[in-house]
Amino acid sequence: MSIRVLIVEPARLYQRLIDSMVKDVGGTADLASNVTEASEYLAINDYDLLFVAAILGDTTGIELAEQIKQQTRHANLIINIITSDIDKSTHEQALASAITEVFHKGDLEEVSEFLTQYLKSNQNTAVETGSILYVEDDIAMAQYISAVMRDAGFDVVHTTIAEDAFKLFGKQAFDLVVTDLFLAGRNSGTTLVRKIRNLGGEQAQVPILVMSGTEDTATRVAILESGASDYVAKPVLVEELIARIRNLIRMKKLFERVEIQRKALQKMAMTDQLTGLYNRHSLSDMAPKYLSEACRHGIPLSLVVVDVDHFKKVNDTFGHSTGDIVLVEVAALLRDSCRNEDFAARFGGEEFVLLFPHCTLEDAINKAEQIRMDIEGLNPEDIHLTASFGVSCLSLDKLCTFDELFNDADSSVYEAKESGRNRVVAHH
Ligand code: GH3
Ligand code: MG
Ligand code: MG
Ligand code: MG
Repeated sequence: MSIRVLIVEPARLYQRLIDSMVKDVGGTADLASNVTEASEYLAINDYDLLFVAAILGDTTGIELAEQIKQQTRHANLIINIITSDIDKSTHEQALASAITEVFHKGDLEEVSEFLTQYLKSNQNTAVETGSILYVEDDIAMAQYISAVMRDAGFDVVHTTIAEDAFKLFGKQAFDLVVTDLFLAGRNSGTTLVRKIRNLGGEQAQVPILVMSGTEDTATRVAILESGASDYVAKPVLVEELIARIRNLIRMKKLFERVEIQRKALQKMAMTDQLTGLYNRHSLSDMAPKYLSEACRHGIPLSLVVVDVDHFKKVNDTFGHSTGDIVLVEVAALLRDSCRNEDFAARFGGEEFVLLFPHCTLEDAINKAEQIRMDIEGLNPEDIHLTASFGVSCLSLDKLCTFDELFNDADSSVYEAKESGRNRVVAHH
């Protein structure tokens, strides 16, 4: 979008300065030096923004702004004052009237920031879409507001009572809930807000905008405290409603993007880059959970340490990158040997740790033996490969820490290496 600006300023210098700022953001400006010229422009053009000097011959910028706002054609025009006066009461008077912002001639770079932000938010709104669940019991009002929301590019599902809205909410994902406060059914808008917030999980986080005719401050505070994200007073000013809807949906989508990035980063921090298995960090994160789960329910838990035999020789003979491929293939084999509730991690180098819940020592030995044979038959990159295994099991009559469980299996691996490699040794 390109913005159209009218500048009403007697001094050529400031006219030109603001004009160039408007051009910088791709907009166009008409320049008026006095009220007469401004009126001529306003009679024939529509503008998005107006910058007006605080003092204009025999009138003021504020007075001119108020006159312009009374013309229906320009009722929604954003009017900013530019002034060399930093008197506080002038600012207050301006902001209390039809003026949106006051800019000081000494800080005109703020005008440039304003223009950039204005353009950005208007560009965003042009593409913002989303689905809205709209709850309103006044049918005429509902039809009008639904049409306004659809015109603004949103998908709208309308219901008249909170109970139906709550059912719909359970079936379909919405980007926003807009609800009237007083509704025809048994539940009010605030009850709906509370019910949604109590759902838990991601859908409980949906933004909710409450509309109400109440002027009562305590009620408005209660609405926000019940978990509503925002509040709009009735009669609704449609521009305000749409601006608030867009803000809420934009925030929701921003939040979702951040959440996706956070999850991706977390996953990256938990996984081993080369093999895609869990890394040592996530093993120390997860192992205590496996242990306490096993203790609490009295279920067996076994741990297997796998160490590839003479892996240094693989690297020395075939090169480090072939060694990497071999590790990836071994890791894939280990992953395929695991059930959903099992846990496979690369502990470091050519050493892996497997956690088998619901597995007694006997079961774990059998599993390890199967994996040992599978590795022997794997022949990654045509290399004959073997591995040594140490197995330990959590004893329910003599509880231990993860470190103890691991050390038991690790010393068994050492025994396996000592006694000739390519074998499974269990800690009894
Ligand atoms: P052992 O049978 O006694 O276990 O002998 P080994 O050679 O397998 O054991 P050692 O611990 O002496 O050597 C492990 C080797 O694994 C040395 C190291 O260079 C190699 N290694 C560790 N991490 C990687 C890796 O990410 N990629 C590759 N290609 N090699 C790795
Ligand atoms: Mg109502
Ligand atoms: Mg080794
Ligand atoms: Mg090793």
